[in-house]
Amino acid sequence: MLAHLRNLSRLALPRQLVTQSASYSSASSSFLIDQPEYSFLKELGLERENPGVYSGQWQGRGPSITSYDPGTGQPIATVRQGNVQELEQTIGLAVEAYKQWRQVPAPVRGEIVRQIGDELRKYKEPLGKLVSLEVGKIYSEGQGEVQEFIDICDYAVGLSRIYSGQLINSERADHSILEAWRPLGVVGVISAYNFPNAVFGWNAAIALTTGNSVLWKGAPSTPLVSVATTKIVADVLRRNNLPPVVSLCQGGTDVGQTLVADKRVNLVSFTGSCQTGRDVGVEVQRRFGKVILELGGNNALIIDESANVKMALDAALFGCIGTSGQRCTTTRRIIVHEKLHDQFVKALVGKYKQLIPKIGHQLDAQTLVGPVHTQQNVENYKTAIEEAKSLGGTVAFGGKVIQRDGFYVEPTVITGLAHDASVVHRETFAPIVYILKAKNVDQAIEWNNEVEQGLSSAIFTENIGQAFKWIGAKGSDCGIVNINTTTNGAEIGGAFGGEKATGGGRESGSDSWKQYCKRATITVNHSGELACAQGVVFNVE
Ligand code: NAD
Repeated sequence: MLAHLRNLSRLALPRQLVTQSASYSSASSSFLIDQPEYSFLKELGLERENPGVYSGQWQGRGPSITSYDPGTGQPIATVRQGNVQELEQTIGLAVEAYKQWRQVPAPVRGEIVRQIGDELRKYKEPLGKLVSLEVGKIYSEGQGEVQEFIDICDYAVGLSRIYSGQLINSERADHSILEAWRPLGVVGVISAYNFPNAVFGWNAAIALTTGNSVLWKGAPSTPLVSVATTKIVADVLRRNNLPPVVSLCQGGTDVGQTLVADKRVNLVSFTGSCQTGRDVGVEVQRRFGKVILELGGNNALIIDESANVKMALDAALFGCIGTSGQRCTTTRRIIVHEKLHDQFVKALVGKYKQLIPKIGHQLDAQTLVGPVHTQQNVENYKTAIEEAKSLGGTVAFGGKVIQRDGFYVEPTVITGLAHDASVVHRETFAPIVYILKAKNVDQAIEWNNEVEQGLSSAIFTENIGQAFKWIGAKGSDCGIVNINTTTNGAEIGGAFGGEKATGGGRESGSDSWKQYCKRATITVNHSGELACAQGVVFNVE
């Protein structure tokens, strides 16, 4: 296998991909995959019925699940999920694959990840469209999500040649201390519906590069993205005669719970709600496994009195409404200096009004605000708005469900609530923002930090003292602490993740790769005599 990897063949040129925009109507009740304007689904190798388990071969003996377009409510295609027995077999195969993969030199593993990135480049257009179609996010965001996977592949290729340990000075003469990073084994990735491609990508690119095999369970409502993405990766593995170092088992809670509890899965990287993440964390800890938790956020944007308000308004618009409020880093609270509060609310509402004609199907070219993912998101939206009103909040804009096929709600601005109202402290995965009026930055920081979650945060200020307070020890307690930019839309180069109920995990860039490794501290005695540390004497003649 290694010899084969050293003679990797050149890639074929990208084939022509569909780029025209089509009109996405809800007129027909048949599966969308059978309609000509959805031919991009077939380019990805999808069929009307798809097996949802891959471990070298495709199969699926669990329940069949239908994937729906949130923009029309129409069925796209079906996926036959895995059952618990199939998951267990897949874990066994992932362990075997790991045993071969760990012997491959890291830069050669990086070469495989480079090929995965190149293959994703070829399929970016149709795969991004599928992400949009299945999640409900707009065209450019679907493309952007695949781009994130490509970016992290590029990053991982470089990483494969430079990630390293260190040589530490020993207190003993002629001794050396080495630190080395070794793969963990099988990395289980459980992902959420709102980033069905990129979250797998962040984990897989780094986990593969560091020598692990990866077993993925995607969200049950985005199974087609899981299948299409795995097909792209599997093709690269097949061309290189590799075992299934990436495998997939689509499934529901039973499959997720089994994966979490299985001792053969050395690291569980879980992305999802705080509620589920807490159980996952406890379960993995119970068996002394490793866990990365990437959970919910309740992210605040602070507008200081010195802020560049024009820029802050643009940041608020994308932060609150991008992905129809369904990013973990979505701006859910805007804390505005009292001197700017009223003018800020008025200006933001003005911007929201301009978005009304841009609400529409996620794949229509002019759409900026697509649907929310399911009817459950609509129900959660309605509940939050009723609760906000009952607590004395004023709906300054929006507040209503839009009556059309699919799951559409009005982007909503709510003012007048107490900073610690129950609804303000809860993450509602919908485009609702609560605007709070604060006396000064100190108070805004206090409110920023008083929620359970600690994912993302941002301040708009031109005051250098306030800016440094914000990023200092008395500032934001979040994992992402931005200045003069949005709470959402992070790049892959930094470590991504948050504190407190967000789970504490870090993925993607910086030194997040260490999470996918075990550390070996190695003391080498090259003195010819045994000497204990700290001057301890312990010998007999
Ligand atoms: P969810 O918690 O409902 O589901 C996430 C995944 O967990 C799914 O694959 C699901 O099938 C699986 N699952 C459910 N119960 C399980 C169990 N008991 N054991 C193991 N797996 C189980 O989350 P969701 O609704 O798909 O996603 C939205 C949530 O995800 C939001 O809270 C959002 O903030 C969070 N999120 C966080 C990040 C981050 O990086 N911090 C990124 C994206 C989404």
